Amino acid sequence: MKSFENADNKEIEKFDNVSDIWWDLKGEMGTLHVINPLRTHFIMENLPPNPKVLDVGCGGGILSEALAKAGARVTGLDLSEASIHAAKRHAQSQGVSIDYRYERVEDLAEKEAGTFDAVACMEMLEHVPEPGKVVAACAKALKPGGQAFFSTINRTPKAFLFAIVGGEYILRLLPRGTHTYSKLIRPAELKQWNRDANLDFVRLASLMYNPFTRKFKVAHDKEDVNYMAHFKKQ
Ligand code: SAH
Repeated sequence: MKSFENADNKEIEKFDNVSDIWWDLKGEMGTLHVINPLRTHFIMENLPPNPKVLDVGCGGGILSEALAKAGARVTGLDLSEASIHAAKRHAQSQGVSIDYRYERVEDLAEKEAGTFDAVACMEMLEHVPEPGKVVAACAKALKPGGQAFFSTINRTPKAFLFAIVGGEYILRLLPRGTHTYSKLIRPAELKQWNRDANLDFVRLASLMYNPFTRKFKVAHDKEDVNYMAHFKKQ
């Protein structure tokens, strides 16, 4: 396995190990499929037609494909090589054209600065040693006025209870060991990294899970547990 700066090998290995179940709807990554239409809408409702979108930490391409099917021209990147292979295979099988890269966002942003209408970076920052650097690279990849969408899990006792204890150990919505509490991210921290990168805050929304109906819904202006945040480049 290759080592990359600002990537945690143990984290990448976890995703290499689940690379064959990204597209198993009933498997341990099933929750990503359940929330996918909600987050795809949260992103696409703000963008111009046929936007050029970068999906950072795309994994097996669950979000990338949905964005492409919704009309975006998508570049997806991930440092889990096995996941990038899975993403390529799946897109091919669906006849969807996506530019998948096994490369760091910091490097892509260097070469393709100022070229994207939007960057999505979902459920990824909490797996990275220095998330602020990823936010800065996302900002660099954007055109002026381009939009960034992040999602992660809040670092609160409630999130610990719901996302880690409930989500990973009781309801099994996620593979056990997916998240480390200390690496979860508070909205204030995410906002600060964005300010540092000259991205203005637009809005927040929480993805709320109802264990009785087993459905998620988007709660605007909430930052509970799993939340999405929208920023705009100046
Ligand atoms: N964004 C996808 C997958 C989330 S899982 C979705 O929401 O459906 C987190 C992903 O981030 C994994 O695929 C993992 O390999 C990737 N990842 C972790 N650290 C990374 C880094 N430094 N650069 C790029 N991808 C990374």
